[in-house]
Amino acid sequence: MDVLARAHRLEAAGRRVIHMEIGEPDFSAPAPVVQAAVRALRDGRTAYTAALGLPALREAIAAHYACRFSKLVSPERIAVTAGASGGLLLTLALYVNPGDEILVPDPGYPGYRHMVRAFEGVARPLNVSPATAFQPTLEMVRAAWGRRTRGLLLGSPSNPTGTRISKTELEKIARFVAGRGGVLIVDEIYQGLVYGDKGGGAAASTALGLPGEVAVVNSFSKYFCMTGWRLGWVVLPRSKDNARVRAFEKLAQHLFICAPSAAQHAALACFLPATLKILERRRIEFQRRRDFLVPALQRAGLAVPAWPTGAFYAYAACPGGRTDGRRFALDLLEREGVAATPGIDFGSNATRGYVRFAYTCGMADLEEAARRIERFTAARAAPERRPGAAAVRPRGGAGARGSARGARARRAP
Ligand code: PMP
Repeated sequence: MDVLARAHRLEAAGRRVIHMEIGEPDFSAPAPVVQAAVRALRDGRTAYTAALGLPALREAIAAHYACRFSKLVSPERIAVTAGASGGLLLTLALYVNPGDEILVPDPGYPGYRHMVRAFEGVARPLNVSPATAFQPTLEMVRAAWGRRTRGLLLGSPSNPTGTRISKTELEKIARFVAGRGGVLIVDEIYQGLVYGDKGGGAAASTALGLPGEVAVVNSFSKYFCMTGWRLGWVVLPRSKDNARVRAFEKLAQHLFICAPSAAQHAALACFLPATLKILERRRIEFQRRRDFLVPALQRAGLAVPAWPTGAFYAYAACPGGRTDGRRFALDLLEREGVAATPGIDFGSNATRGYVRFAYTCGMADLEEAARRIERFTAARAAPERRPGAAAVRPRGGAGARGSARGARARRAP
């Protein structure tokens, strides 16, 4: 948050900042979605909807699972929510009682632990490392599972590391959690934003269909580029007499009434072939950016210890081992006008030496950022090699005014 505030101040003073700290796509909603939204607004379709969402949207999401993942799910089990945030909150409200523990990866999305705490639960960190691509393993889950453990919440692809859990490990974990009578909550908000090696393709996957009590959370924010529309969904586990869905519905009704209705009408256009074509082009563009950025960071001395295969983040170790990521991010911003998020925002497990770069800006900005980062790390290394050398002078130019993205509201992480 310090980085964000500082970036705003620099922009207000006329510096051009390249924003790589923001966890949202630089693309806006695809044209068919915008057209559907305009139609919905013109037709006055802005009243509350059913608490679980428009039946047609729940059906469209179910059809998406059938079409893309060959998974059959009844629309009845799908709840449309106010983003993945609303979905996570309602899911945790459903399962967490005071004192219950939920295992969460560290580093991981900070919202997880705050949301668990909101229901007086205890977010117990699972320390993940590059050795397992920053994803939990069965052994970790088994070792951490205790008397008060109610479940496990993980994200794949992950924020901040962009890594994915393997299908086989997730299956083993699901079986274990089921054996303990717990709940497995899988945040698939970056589903669809997956990349193969060297320009090759990659298949998106889902936890849907795994054994046991599994809740799958998703969103229109990232793959569909609709962050501010506040729309997501949860696929709830099968249950006797649909008890889970009914309990979730009550919570949704009382806490949210419904997800934004105009956004729901617009989202009906998300699964049209024309929209999916646009999104696929964007996915390829994200992959191109990743293929450029990760090697560029490594050339600049920022090791990326787990190759990111999804989302739009590179989680990089600051050069020099003991470097403080927060100091690094603030200095990089101050001197070169490149904003990144310090690792400590994502937990306390060896996060101090890391920074997260989001490749949510165009290639020209990314290339410029890479030049600036390389210049910054070279200049930082120089005084160490040459004792007494002059300190690095601030750069980044007072020339151009804030980037086009400067006008957008900034959020991190
Ligand atoms: N999960 C993860 C991993 C995220 O990165 C985010 C947003 N940055 C969210 C959930 C919440 O997203 P939204 O509410 O916009 O769907």
